[in-house]
Amino acid sequence: MEKREFLKAGSLMVAATLVDPLFACTPSLKLTGIMPTDGVFTLPALGYAFTALEPHIDAMTMEIHHDRHHAAYVSKLNEAIKATPAWADQSLEAMMPKVTAADAAIRNHGGGHYNHSLFWTSIAPGGATAPAGTLRDALLAAFGTLDEFKKKFTAAATSVFGSGWAWLCADPSGKLFITTTPNQDNPLMTQLAKEPGKPILGLDVWEHAYYLKYQNKRADYINAYYAIINWDAAATRYNAK
Ligand code: MN
Repeated sequence: MEKREFLKAGSLMVAATLVDPLFACTPSLKLTGIMPTDGVFTLPALGYAFTALEPHIDAMTMEIHHDRHHAAYVSKLNEAIKATPAWADQSLEAMMPKVTAADAAIRNHGGGHYNHSLFWTSIAPGGATAPAGTLRDALLAAFGTLDEFKKKFTAAATSVFGSGWAWLCADPSGKLFITTTPNQDNPLMTQLAKEPGKPILGLDVWEHAYYLKYQNKRADYINAYYAIINWDAAATRYNAK
């Protein structure tokens, strides 16, 4: 690595450490694309095949959702930052708490980029079917049983009117709670979210996430989510200080 590149990478890592107290984590946990590279956010790779989550989420939905919907949030976010340079050169996690109702483009497209980046790592093929370790303990402390968590999460995800997200979040003490956000808002938007927190799992309940396979049956899509939750990634996020 050239010295200049090394220094640049080093300063980016230092900057990320300084500005991301809520989401500070080990390098392996960093969501791809979370920092702009030379001022530009990029679409993170899915990390598995479009077909990998069949039959729970169909390949065509995954391809359209990732390659078109998520890609559009990324490119519109880059346009918004170009138009308002005060938002330049920050991680998504650093941007989210600064977003107000006046920042519509960053709210919608920055939120969209963050939420989808987290969503792709909230699900995975062939993972553990239940949480383990400290996340398991916290889940049982908050909800009693895994089934009770699912019941409450399903109720929350079902209750989102129109487009939005359901979240499993941790508060600063590590206590878990379930919340929802409308549109592309998320719990890192401390000035907008009804219950801010650190997202551990996110479920996209926009119709584009499920309509091809499930049509109006959102509850069936939510049930399918439990079969593909990436509990290992959730635990890593939960344990990240
Ligand atoms: Mn989506």
